[in-house]
Amino acid sequence: MQVFKFGGASVKDADSVKNIVTVLQKTGVKNKLIVLSAMGKTTNALEEVVDAYFNDETKLSETIEASRKYHIDIITTLFPKGHAIFKTVHTLFKNLEDFLAINKSPNYDFVYDQVICYGELTSTQIVSAFLAESNIKNQWIDARELIKTDTSYRDAKVDWDVTQKNIQQAIQKEGLFITQGFVASEENNFTTTLGREGSDYTGAIFAYCLNADNLTIWKDVPGVLNGDPRVFKNTKLLQRISYNEAIEMAFYGASVIHPKTLQPLQRKEIPLYVKSFITPESPGTFIGKGIQLDPMVACFIVKKNQILISLSSIDFSFIMEENISDIFNLLHIYKMKVTMMQNSAISFSVCIENKFNTLEPLLKKLRATYKVRWNEGVTLLTARHASANEIHMLLHGRKVLLKQENRTVTQFVLKEA
Ligand code: ASP
Ligand code: MG
Repeated sequence: MQVFKFGGASVKDADSVKNIVTVLQKTGVKNKLIVLSAMGKTTNALEEVVDAYFNDETKLSETIEASRKYHIDIITTLFPKGHAIFKTVHTLFKNLEDFLAINKSPNYDFVYDQVICYGELTSTQIVSAFLAESNIKNQWIDARELIKTDTSYRDAKVDWDVTQKNIQQAIQKEGLFITQGFVASEENNFTTTLGREGSDYTGAIFAYCLNADNLTIWKDVPGVLNGDPRVFKNTKLLQRISYNEAIEMAFYGASVIHPKTLQPLQRKEIPLYVKSFITPESPGTFIGKGIQLDPMVACFIVKKNQILISLSSIDFSFIMEENISDIFNLLHIYKMKVTMMQNSAISFSVCIENKFNTLEPLLKKLRATYKVRWNEGVTLLTARHASANEIHMLLHGRKVLLKQENRTVTQFVLKEA
């Protein structure tokens, strides 16, 4: 079994959907599971629906309509008039509207997941129908029936035992299966999601549970590069990367792979390929056991929109184990992701990601005990295997707020210009 994951960019319009057929024709259609994201920027569009529902009901129908129209336009290009897919897509959007009409839950994260899943549900129905239309037999699968999680909406934790049993039971015969990335469900069968950009992780969950030969993530770049080509000049394609190296790169912001993706793969030593859906015959990047990095070049990773909080004691007392443990407890409660930290006798600095919009209450709590300074919109720059000269060039003209270094890695928190 092989698992293929296609992201939003690879299904963003009618031509991209046709290209998936091309990729499958070139790589074979037997014994494969395809994990799909929502089309293009659909997830962002559905986030606007959730926002309108909670904050501005007058915009609700307009935001839903925009997303429906985007999908209808694509299927109008792909399918003949009167094809069953039109009804399927209309029904999905009707179900979304019905949910919002009857929902009583004030829980933003819960509602978010019940709404946001329609992106993936719709994209997989469209691609499955289009493959069938192109004479490629396939079976559509609702990932929510297989991947079970806890009730941490928007950031759900997988129940591996149940999930593995479900997946192995559902996917036995040789064939082509199409399913959604990112979505799962909790014990009462309400939808949960695995975190933004979580479809890569879904690919890894299926690969792990099926003992797949490999997982391929298809992208609009040739593979994993040693820096984001939108930020850095003269980037190089990395041909081989070890799991360890890749986990570190993904954690600090190399957005080509979702950070959670590598753990399940590494546990069963399932190779991960990152390849271009534009040139599917090119080798791309291989991530697996062995060679740390080939070619051995410096890698630069940028993570924007971080917050740097600096705490110091009000009365000049030391910041000790006890305080640090309290601080981390608060960071955990407010679901802040820590990306870097540093402490001295009377101060503590931590770089965090405010994924759940909880900065205000966190600062309020911290102010009760510490003098608090903070910078929003800072950038975390991670340089791996870089020479002093490369780092010097990189920092040219930028203001460093915090620096940390070991033998392989140098990290900077930079103030954005
Ligand atoms: N559609 C979801 C998102 O955009 C999941 C994914 O693309 O991986 O976050
Ligand atoms: Mg997406």
